[in-house]
Amino acid sequence: MTTLSRRRFLQISTGAAGLAAAGCFQGPQVPEWLGPAPAAADEIRTTPTYCDVCFWKCGALATTRNGRLWKIEGNPRDPLSRGRLCPRGTGGVGAHFDRTRLTAPLIRRQSRGAEEWAEVTWGEALDHIARGMQAIRQQYGPEAMALFSHGIGGNFLKHTFKAFGTPNLAAPSYAQCRGPRDVGFTLTFGDEVGTPERTDIRNARCLVLIGSHLGENMHNSQVQDFAEAVGNGASIIVVDPRFSVAAGKAHWYLPIKPGTDLALLLAWMHVLVEEGLYDKEYVAAHGFGFEAFAAELAPWTPEWAWPATGIEPETIRATAREMARHRPATLVHPGRHATWYGDDTQRSRAVALLNALLGSWGRKGGFYAPASVDVPAYPYPPYPTPARGKVDNPGHRYPFADGALTTGIRAATLTGEPYPVKGWMVYATNLLQALPAPEETIRAIRNLDLLVVVDVIPSEIAGWADVVLPESVYLERWDDLNTEGFREPFVSLRQPVVEPPGGQKPNWWIARELALRLGLGAWYPWKTVEEYLDHRLQAAGYSLAELREKGVITGPPQPLYFEEGVPAEFPTPSGKIEFWSPQLARAGFDPVPRFKAPEEPPAGAFRLLFGRSPVHTFSRTQTNPVLASVQDENEVWVNAAVARRQGWEQGAYVRLRNQDGVVSNRVKVRATERIRPDCVYMVHGFGHTAKGLPPAFRKGASDNLLVSRYAVDPLMGGTGMNVNFVTLEAEA
Ligand code: SF4
Repeated sequence: MTTLSRRRFLQISTGAAGLAAAGCFQGPQVPEWLGPAPAAADEIRTTPTYCDVCFWKCGALATTRNGRLWKIEGNPRDPLSRGRLCPRGTGGVGAHFDRTRLTAPLIRRQSRGAEEWAEVTWGEALDHIARGMQAIRQQYGPEAMALFSHGIGGNFLKHTFKAFGTPNLAAPSYAQCRGPRDVGFTLTFGDEVGTPERTDIRNARCLVLIGSHLGENMHNSQVQDFAEAVGNGASIIVVDPRFSVAAGKAHWYLPIKPGTDLALLLAWMHVLVEEGLYDKEYVAAHGFGFEAFAAELAPWTPEWAWPATGIEPETIRATAREMARHRPATLVHPGRHATWYGDDTQRSRAVALLNALLGSWGRKGGFYAPASVDVPAYPYPPYPTPARGKVDNPGHRYPFADGALTTGIRAATLTGEPYPVKGWMVYATNLLQALPAPEETIRAIRNLDLLVVVDVIPSEIAGWADVVLPESVYLERWDDLNTEGFREPFVSLRQPVVEPPGGQKPNWWIARELALRLGLGAWYPWKTVEEYLDHRLQAAGYSLAELREKGVITGPPQPLYFEEGVPAEFPTPSGKIEFWSPQLARAGFDPVPRFKAPEEPPAGAFRLLFGRSPVHTFSRTQTNPVLASVQDENEVWVNAAVARRQGWEQGAYVRLRNQDGVVSNRVKVRATERIRPDCVYMVHGFGHTAKGLPPAFRKGASDNLLVSRYAVDPLMGGTGMNVNFVTLEAEA
């Protein structure tokens, strides 16, 4: 196996932005609490846990010096981190020291959104919430309560809400992120890509990234694997309107016109079929409906795709041949944030079909079969069966939605149809930066009888809450076990490293105390979370004591590929890879994806694109002093020639105005050749407007504020958000 040098990993993880180095923050940015090197008399203590700066859950070793949090590194035992954290994970110490943290429960004093509260005790806050939930249950039924959550920390609240009797539990990670991708792959292979993605990047001989900016989007294991693939000489093809960090590693960079990826995918597949370059044996053994699929592809030539995509036919042919040359170790990455233009399930299905032609599903260098340790769930009593089904997708309007739609719950809250939703609890997700059309979210909130927010900082959504509950950060709490499927089966533990600095409480305690007040004690037979964890671990043949010591326990290696003995099974209705989809045909959709040209930006306007920073997660980390010391505002990327023509100087402030007249906060211009002239780009999560976040207040601009328009995916209800156009106005 190729050894990945630390230098190589850092080159990719820090990228062109020249940002923080994973594993160290040096020079003038060293936060003062890190202090000088430890003295011999210092008490140094290391505790294994797993990171929560994003949802990847990398195994970490957190060290305290004389009882004070000092540093966090990767846990070498952990298959996800392999002993290294990304820059955000290393900067996780700042989450503990963040001076903007909520410290006590709050109850609203003024009108919603005024951000005026009174501090109360935990008992008062929880009694208030329980009374509100009971009143809603009495008047509208338990289904009128909805829970929005993000990450594993929401598990215990989900449990309480299911015991309460509501089916309305949703996360933006579905309809605003990976939902269309997983539906597209399930329609094709019968299974989804999952989290962490089952992508065998490290063994790929050819890696195709379509709008996936690995190295800026810092999913640790994937970036390490990407660095390994680059080091191994894999052929890299990057398709992106913006010359991303990943594009800097590419052999082929295709600066595609935004919104036309599906045309390129169809043309690539056309070439593979027309030139007979696809994996004929694999397709013959596992494919369903191939002939009809091939016939549909006939018109979609590279010459047809050229005007739409801006990619020349010879480049399309050459890159298709390059993919074929390395198959089945060619991985067309499925991406993660897939909600772009509203055709997202069909686009993702085209990615799946291209992988199918290359024979990469189930093969080394393509998609492996994930394995997980079998840790039984806690034996709770069955949940009550709600009298009414989920509120988010009435009449199965989106027939392939297999997860709850946040925006569907929001719509029901606004209209009262198919039934009223009168209470929201929001855990660890800043809905005002996560859901498109934030004005709609605010109008929905105005219809609520109760809004409870559980968070660590007073985010924008907390500003609209009736009750705000301060949660301890991940370094101060236990959480549920992590048993996600991955290359190696494992179970990992989050455990407290330090005490919370104020009156914050862990989510499991909040969920349990609320359940007891709601008369749901039968669903909480355990008193402490250690009891719960130990019970589950013992049922699997492990012990909490062992996991506390190691942080991670791995199971025996499992076969990963068909060639290693993984059964080649495809749980679609036909039991095969569905090249032509009877399911889609029956539901009135295209059985093979078809391209529809996107709306053009009006004259003088640009399509607004957004993405991730390697040192921030969503809108959750801008007040983390370590991470903010590396990046405390975003920039708007504008093509350099356009900027010159318009007189927008490098570093000057501008405001963005969208098609609906929404104007952003001021944001710095980054004039660069690295973006097409028809679009602009921003990193997501900045431009905070909550008064309680002074270090991040109005620093940079919020892309989400400008996403007042969205295109709903007709198959599964995801919200395509790259459909907004902006003009730039120089700051007076
Ligand atoms: S990818 Fe980075 S932020 Fe996310 S869990 Fe891993 S180390 Fe933490």
